[in-house]
Parts: sequence; structure tokens; C-alpha cells
Amino acid sequence: MSSLKRILVTGGAGFLGSHLCERLVGEGHDVICLDNFFTSQKSNVAHLLDRSNFELVRHDVTLPVFLEVDEIYNLACPAAPGHYQYNPIKTLKTSVLGAVNTLGMAKRCRAKILQASTSEIYGDPEVHPQPESYRGAVNSIGPRACYDEGKRAAETLFMDYHRMNGVRIRLVRIFNTYGPRMHPFDGRVISNFIRQALTGEDITLFGDGSQSRSFCYRDDLIEGMVRMMNAPDDLIGPVNLGNPGEFTIRQLAEMVIEMTGTASKLVYCPLPVDDPTQRQPDITLARRHLAWEPTVPLREGLARTIEWFRSIDMSHYRPPTPRF
Ligand code: NAD
Ligand code: UDP
Repeated sequence: MSSLKRILVTGGAGFLGSHLCERLVGEGHDVICLDNFFTSQKSNVAHLLDRSNFELVRHDVTLPVFLEVDEIYNLACPAAPGHYQYNPIKTLKTSVLGAVNTLGMAKRCRAKILQASTSEIYGDPEVHPQPESYRGAVNSIGPRACYDEGKRAAETLFMDYHRMNGVRIRLVRIFNTYGPRMHPFDGRVISNFIRQALTGEDITLFGDGSQSRSFCYRDDLIEGMVRMMNAPDDLIGPVNLGNPGEFTIRQLAEMVIEMTGTASKLVYCPLPVDDPTQRQPDITLARRHLAWEPTVPLREGLARTIEWFRSIDMSHYRPPTPRF
């Protein structure tokens, strides 16, 4: 049997999805990228359009879709807080109905399916660093809940389709990932700081900047995701994927200021509600079962990301439609 597969990537035009599509097309697989372009644009995959093993489908995962595939990477979901809070009800529907529709397809096609879950599953964690066994501290009624609870419900659906129908599933919990092709107006901290630094705007530090995050470069993350999909069927996860190097947001701001040589000033803004105070992945399982660990340190990944931001015309990017 050929090792080339028919692979569906939902959210395939997004930041991570477009890199994943690029990688899979490069390996010769028949790749279908499905996206509704809510937080992305066609330009992310324009360079793949003339490849005979790449196909682009405009579709919303909250609606059923019938395709014949061997593997599914389910990435469709707004990921930046500003994007997912724009229409929280739609965000929750995207996670839940998107999981139901893609799991149904996996069941019908006997396809393997990987869910892009998140460190937000852990909420504002009281355990540090976070192992997969930690059950999390999510505020189910706060402004981040549409994303956090949607992703938690999706994990539940994946496990139940697996237990009830024998669907071959993979769960990865992704920690903050960054790199070229992030949307410059998505409001995530790295894209925000770099854009602000390059355009001479003030750098917006939320709270006192003592909250921490652990930043993974996108190439490392994609490698981990593909390894997880290709792992033996008994490794269903969840498995954390992230870079354990932990930094405060203030340290990140200072690094961006130094590396861009900007004259931008730091300004303090209110800390968003339920903003996690700390986050660091325990990647023992990924090391042991996938022989995976990140290779790109923050400073190196930031240099590549800054270079990309310098190369784009930011006027070609729109923020999503303003809040209704
Ligand atoms: P992104 O916003 O760039 O990509 C998400 C993609 O999904 C976009 O192309 C968007 O248009 C598409 N999409 C959204 N709603 C859709 C719908 N209803 N139907 C079809 N397509 C839809 O974000 P990203 O950083 O590339 O994230 C990709 C996935 O990884 C998401 O599921 C996200 O939750 C997960 N994740 C990302 C990170 C990170 O730090 N980048 C961390 C944890 C989890
Ligand atoms: N943040 C900040 N300034 C910004 C954007 C974000 O200080 O302009 C902070 C935010 O409050 C959070 C951290 O950076 O503590 C990471 O935010 P992001 O939205 O990137 O991701 P998440 O909170 O989902 O991890």
C-alpha cells in the first residue's frame, strides 16, 4: 500500500494550518485545506494553489461536509483571545459542532483524526508546570470560557467517539505557538508586540507583565503534531506540545524592544479578566513517546518572526469584522 494519504486539514489556511498543509503537500500527500477564512486569508496558502496535490475548500466546520480521507487534522477554531471573543457563541459552536462533524467523517471513512487542543484546558493553573494529568482550573462562565470549554467539550467528544465507535483519535494540547504568518492584528502577545515595535506604536503590557507564558516556534510544533499523527494507535493522548522555556510578558516585551531597536515605549493596560498567571508545559510524555522536544530558542524564533513581519505589507491584513 502507498504511504501517500488523503489528508484533510480544517483551519488549513490559518497560521498553523497553512504550515501544516505546506509540510504535507511537500511530502506528496493529497491535501484538502478546509477553511471559512474567519481569521485567515487565502494568501497564506496561495503558493500551494497550483500544486496538483493541494485543494482549497471554503466551508464552515459547524456544517456537515462529506469528503473521503485517510487522516484529519482538526484545527478550525479562532485561537487568539480577541478573535474567539468576537462571537463567543460561534466559537463554542465551532469547537463542538466542528468536532462532531469531523469525528463523524472519521468514523465513516475509518480515518485517523487529530484534535488541536490547547493549554487553555488548564485554565489559570494551580499546578506548575502543567502535566496532562492536571485537570485544570477553568472559569466556566468567564469571557475565555467559549474557547476553553469548547476545547474541553471537543476532547470529551473525541474520547467518546473513540470509546464508543473505535475512532482512531489523537489529542495534542498546544501551548502558545508563534512564528511567521501570524495575523498581525490578532492581538496575541508576540504579533502585537512585534507589530507595535515595527510601527512605532506603544507596546501594550497588560497588568504588571509578571504573568508568564512558554513560547514554541511553529516549526517545532508542526513537527510534534505530525509525529503524534504518525504514532502507534495506542497513543491517543492527550499529549502536551510546547516549549518549556518560560518567560514573563515583561521579559518578552524587553526582548522585542531590544531586538527591533524600536523607540516604542512600554505602556501599562488593564489585565484582561481570567488572564492565566503562569503557563509552562510538562513535555515528559512527548519526549518519551514521540522523541520530540523543541529545538528553536525564543530569541532565534523571534528573530525569524520579526524578519517576516518586516517583509509584509500590514495594510493587506484586516482585523475580523468589528464586534456587533
Ligand atoms: P488561526 O486563527 O490562524 O487559525 C484558525 C483557522 O481556523 C483560521 O484559518 C480560521 O479562518 C479557521 N476557522 C475558524 N473558524 C472556522 C470555522 N467555523 N470553519 C472553518 N474554519 C474556521 O489560529 P492558529 O494559531 O493557527 O490555531 C490553529 C489551531 O490550533 C486552533 O484550533 C487553535 O485553537 C489551536 N491552538 C493554537 C495555539 C497557538 O498558540 N497558535 C495554541 C493552542 C491551540
Ligand atoms: N498580553 C500583553 N499585551 C498584549 C497582548 C497580550 O501583555 O498586547 C499578555 C496577555 O495579557 C497574556 C499574555 O500576554 O498574559 C499572552 O497573551 P496571548 O493573547 O498571546 O495568549 P494567551 O493569553 O491566550 O496565552
